[in-house]
Amino acid sequence: MVPLIERAVQTHQLTEDELLFLLQSPQADGPLFAAADRVRRHYVGDEVHLRALIEFSNICPNQCLYCGLRAPNTRLARYRLTPQQIVALAQKAVQYGYKTVVLQGGEDPFFTVEVWTPILQQIKALGLVITLSLGERPSEDYRALKQAGADRYLLRIETTDKALYEKYNPGMRFENRLRCLRDLKALGYETGTGVLVGLPGQTLRSLARDILYFKELDADMVGLGPFIPNPDTPLQDAPAPQLAPALKVMALTRLLLPDINIPATTAMETVAPDGRIQALQSGANVVMPNITEGEARLNYALYPGKACAGESPTRCRGCLENKLRAIGRSVSQGPGWHTRKL
Ligand code: SAM
Ligand code: SF4
Repeated sequence: MVPLIERAVQTHQLTEDELLFLLQSPQADGPLFAAADRVRRHYVGDEVHLRALIEFSNICPNQCLYCGLRAPNTRLARYRLTPQQIVALAQKAVQYGYKTVVLQGGEDPFFTVEVWTPILQQIKALGLVITLSLGERPSEDYRALKQAGADRYLLRIETTDKALYEKYNPGMRFENRLRCLRDLKALGYETGTGVLVGLPGQTLRSLARDILYFKELDADMVGLGPFIPNPDTPLQDAPAPQLAPALKVMALTRLLLPDINIPATTAMETVAPDGRIQALQSGANVVMPNITEGEARLNYALYPGKACAGESPTRCRGCLENKLRAIGRSVSQGPGWHTRKL
């Protein structure tokens, strides 16, 4: 096992069967996390890039079975930030010291390209790098949003098991998800994808294929996390989430795509109180602190117990900087582009 991991550290290649073998072996956990930590340090260094997350709307017409924002969930109080509120939060992001904002939300039909264009232009004028996470859109929208100033786009493939994807995303087509990701790459976005780990019915082989898909796409970022059952969704009775399998998929991703950006995600922190720190010591080099305020912050409820939901954005930043310092990591002062080292 250790020779296999060491070979992957050198070559950044593993076959589907080798990935499966490592995913199946609990003894691989420790050596794998340590190897991913070494590869992370060698390729992207000790700096951690902080991206300020703005959750602009929890309104969504889709029905993803795992997500608390799904349209049929009537127990959620819905909100939509105004364009002015979004720009004001971006201004605060600059004051807090962030270099990137991530605009994430449900696929809210209010936010057309015409609505986004002036928002993106104003945010760009603040000198920020812009990441969008708006879900599936036609190619023309992705092109127009790029022209308006967007630099990066996050769209998780969620799972590369087509049957599972279409079961959990009623009305959505797996082929369209692939098309979106191809379009984003072709348009020159720094493209992020990722998966949910621990969906009922998901196999370890399918997770091995997910990792190979990240490589095939030539992803610039991969953000993944444990699936956390939400009591207000049809998957409410799914087994309790676990951190280790998600950390393992993440560590293997670091071995195969050594120079990309990999966030330690909020879902990881929700499942274990030091989940983000464990992730940063197992291959991750990015954190996305939430700077959404007030009711909106509480109502962007994808899953229960979301880490830091009750905190203020300033406290979050300070708390995180202390935790990073304690593990010998520093906050990056740059925009944190994906720099190819291979
Ligand atoms: N609507 C956009 C989309 O679906 O790409 C962006 C927002 S969506 C809420 C962001 C991510 O939340 C999804 O890609 C999904 O992986 C994650 N998510 C949703 N429900 C979750 C849950 N119950 N546990 C963990 N992650 C979840
Ligand atoms: Fe909407 Fe995204 Fe949630 Fe699906 S995962 S219901 S698209 S917010």
